[in-house]
Amino acid sequence: MTAEEYKNKKLEIYNRLTESEGYNEENLTNGELCHKCGGKCCRNYPCVFSPEDFIDIYDLDYMKSILDTGYFVIDTFFRYQGEDIIYYVRPRGVDDDNVVTDPDKRGRRCMLHTDNGCMLDFYTRPSGGALLIPNPNRIICEYSRCDAKYSSTDQYEEWCDYQDVMLELLDYYSDKKIAPNVSKIYKLERIIRQDEI
Ligand code: SF4
Repeated sequence: MTAEEYKNKKLEIYNRLTESEGYNEENLTNGELCHKCGGKCCRNYPCVFSPEDFIDIYDLDYMKSILDTGYFVIDTFFRYQGEDIIYYVRPRGVDDDNVVTDPDKRGRRCMLHTDNGCMLDFYTRPSGGALLIPNPNRIICEYSRCDAKYSSTDQYEEWCDYQDVMLELLDYYSDKKIAPNVSKIYKLERIIRQDEI
């Protein structure tokens, strides 16, 4: 999928997740504010993909091509209202060691966070990060949160429907350790988009 086709796919996802039309890079980002904030969210823990961010989450070879880069892991949501553990995909954090499955610290700082912001372009980054509307008060107050349009409840509920494929991936990676492959770092967007590499 080309960058333009993938962007259109993501805009459809944003419309669905926010139940409104019109969210895009212009009104979801605020470079000046994020620069002043320094990415407090990304420095605390990595964001969350929507399962729909992937071209085809049921294509195991495609999902392995993403997880094999070493820059993404399978994590679990905390138990939610007594329900089962739910597996999801997120970027790797700097404290995640080299495991792919079930890292237990939420990874701390996202490995894709740089002094210039996210390494992934706006439309390829996980929906959890892209749909976070910057809050000016966040700069002055630690407890002032940005506005998460893809909320933790939405994330949990959406990933619930994909546990069959997540369990297959979990099984495949359970005994594997994969270090981040630096030769892939500038190809991550194309790998996610299944663009020509
Ligand atoms: S992927 Fe990008 S937006 Fe998401 S936590 Fe990492 S640096 Fe932040």
